[in-house]
Amino acid sequence: MVYLHVPFCRSFCTYCDFYSEIACRGRDAQLFEAYTDAVCAEASRRRDEIEATRDLDTLYIGGGTPSVLPLSLLRKIISFLMSGGVPPELVEFTIEVNPEDIVERGPEYVRGLLGLGVNRVSMGVQSLDDGILRWMNRRHDAAHARQAFRILRGAGVDNVSVDLIFGLSQLSLQTLDATVSEILEWRPEHISAYQLSIEEDSALGEMVRLGRYIEAPQEQCAAQYALLCKRLRAAGYVHYEISNWALPGREAVHNSAYWARHPYVGLGPGAHSFDGTRRSWNAACLRQNGELPPETSGCAGPLPSDDGPLEGLATGAPENASIFGVVMPRVARFPEAVTAPAMQAVIWWPQNWRKGGLQERRNEVIREQGFYNQNWCGCEFSRHDNP
Ligand code: SF4
Repeated sequence: MVYLHVPFCRSFCTYCDFYSEIACRGRDAQLFEAYTDAVCAEASRRRDEIEATRDLDTLYIGGGTPSVLPLSLLRKIISFLMSGGVPPELVEFTIEVNPEDIVERGPEYVRGLLGLGVNRVSMGVQSLDDGILRWMNRRHDAAHARQAFRILRGAGVDNVSVDLIFGLSQLSLQTLDATVSEILEWRPEHISAYQLSIEEDSALGEMVRLGRYIEAPQEQCAAQYALLCKRLRAAGYVHYEISNWALPGREAVHNSAYWARHPYVGLGPGAHSFDGTRRSWNAACLRQNGELPPETSGCAGPLPSDDGPLEGLATGAPENASIFGVVMPRVARFPEAVTAPAMQAVIWWPQNWRKGGLQERRNEVIREQGFYNQNWCGCEFSRHDNP
């Protein structure tokens, strides 16, 4: 299992504090090439680690915005990985894309991705309301998102995941419902819906500090989440993780495996790794010329095995279905574990796993108040447990 972080974006979205650098058009070629050489060198150094993750052959290219990289450089990275521990026949090979890149680069680019072995594309749509997209400072509008999805399908991508965001205070149920209705007409194989979180270092964090944005009340977020649950279930999507729905058999292999504690190697700045016992991470920075700094990693100690109910929620036997690590039979056996803070943690982790390991983030999560009350969580769980 390999994750490759591509730390470039054309602009920063309002809510985002992932590590990423702005790649300015016309001045990005050298930056991209230096980055490519740096991750190839890192992959070479870590070949043994990569080979040790071969119990599950997946590759996930995320960001940032991987689709800003030219195909030629992606090809160079993939060829390098595949001659250095990553097998050519992958169970799942996902790349994250943004709609505007797909529209700009067209079907030829998408066919090029498929030619590299990509068999799953995850597209950040977030909303089909232009006002919401402008507020998010996304570069695409709804028309671009529609066009991009058509291009993906037309070029032959048969496994598409669409990302949505809910929990904005200005997002009405009607607007969310309209977005969901159209997305369901597209019939992507997979839908991820993440609740907006206010990150201190994001533009949104600053807006909150200045009183320019008021966080959505819990009831509003819960109502939006309930709408998503209801609409997607009715449309035949399996709610297999707290923020993820898939048509039967199209659950994400790579992302689900994080919760089953499969070892993985994260390449690129800010990427995290797990060797089965210890978590480590690369420094989240690039030199100005695109190279990784010489000392790139930090390391956390082993995860304790007795972490109480919260950790119990984050792990589970792989044979069991899970909702972001919440193994449903286990929840049924330990209903007391389904507390509001635990639920908040489960919602919170998927949005933030790239920024910090479970261990150092958990305390912060536990201190937060849950978004949803215990009865609501229990109700949601029991629906999944007894469909
Ligand atoms: S949400 Fe994605 S595209 Fe937007 S700034 Fe963050 S990483 Fe870049």
